[in-house]
Amino acid sequence: MVIAEPVSGRAQPDGRRLLLVHAHPDDETIGTGATMAHYAASGAQVTLVTCTLGEEGEVLVPELGLLAAGHADQLGGWRIAELAAAMAELGITDHRFLGGAGRFRDSGMMGDPANAKPRAFWRAAADPETFDAAVSALVEVICQVRPQVLVTYDDAGGYGHPDHIMAHRVATAAVEAAADPACAGAGGSWQVSKLYWTATPRSVLAAGLAAVRAAGADLPFAAVESVRELPYGCDDQLVSTAIVAEDQAGAKLRALAAHRTQVSVHGSFYALSNNLGQPVLGTEYFRLALGSPAGDRDAQDRETDLFAGIDFAGIDSGGIDIAGIDSAGIDSAGTDSAGIGEDTG
Ligand SMILES: [Zn+2]
Repeated sequence: MVIAEPVSGRAQPDGRRLLLVHAHPDDETIGTGATMAHYAASGAQVTLVTCTLGEEGEVLVPELGLLAAGHADQLGGWRIAELAAAMAELGITDHRFLGGAGRFRDSGMMGDPANAKPRAFWRAAADPETFDAAVSALVEVICQVRPQVLVTYDDAGGYGHPDHIMAHRVATAAVEAAADPACAGAGGSWQVSKLYWTATPRSVLAAGLAAVRAAGADLPFAAVESVRELPYGCDDQLVSTAIVAEDQAGAKLRALAAHRTQVSVHGSFYALSNNLGQPVLGTEYFRLALGSPAGDRDAQDRETDLFAGIDFAGIDSGGIDIAGIDSAGIDSAGTDSAGIGEDTG
């Protein structure tokens, strides 16, 4: 079987395709960095779509502070470079911005005046034209990349940031639209087999808080007393899947450090602009929102592989993706054999 050209320095692509839809540069690493590195290293094609440039972020590096939205408003462009550096650490070669870099703007926190800026991603909540444009842009990617697995946020956007909520809504609508046989996306319609939402179990958050408190004065970060004080965290029993990728924790740590305007790293801990310390974890958690749980389970009865249960043979023989690449290969093989035939004849 002829498959896509190998990306230099990486395992030969094996037909597994994972698409992640995140809101801002850094979200991909914070929530799914180890998972992305794990699958890329093992031969899956991993594609990241980031919905905005993160223009409204706070700047943690004093000498870069004037890049911020309220001053030079150059942070978005700067963060493109941070994202590229982070993806190099994770081994991700395909990262894109929804609709192209700069199409949708970071909306700031809920209620912030930035919610209403002309290109703000959150405007899609009230403006069907903007929403449709965002969905169409993602459908285009889905129909081209043809991922069996798509990862995004839950309907609360994980912690309520408008761009995370909108990423959820756009991804959900795009998965549905891409599956419509009338889909006009490149390569025709595509049915994502499994859709996941990122999740952080409260027990894991609690263990992280305990680790931060234990590190105490060794860390420049703050700690809250209880997970109840945090605006995120998922009931453990809702978590369907745990991806153990401890061997990628170092790459995740380096990728976090690459997002230097947004993330402070100290030892094996990091903090965002709220300065709440958290350990960098090589195990990441998900909730299955579409598809059936399958494959090996861990001690908590959670799936251990995002691709478990997917019938690749069935998808590939019926789909256009691999079949299309195959027929390109078969075409050249046909040309070769014709040539051989002539020589022989
Ligand atoms: Zn974000």
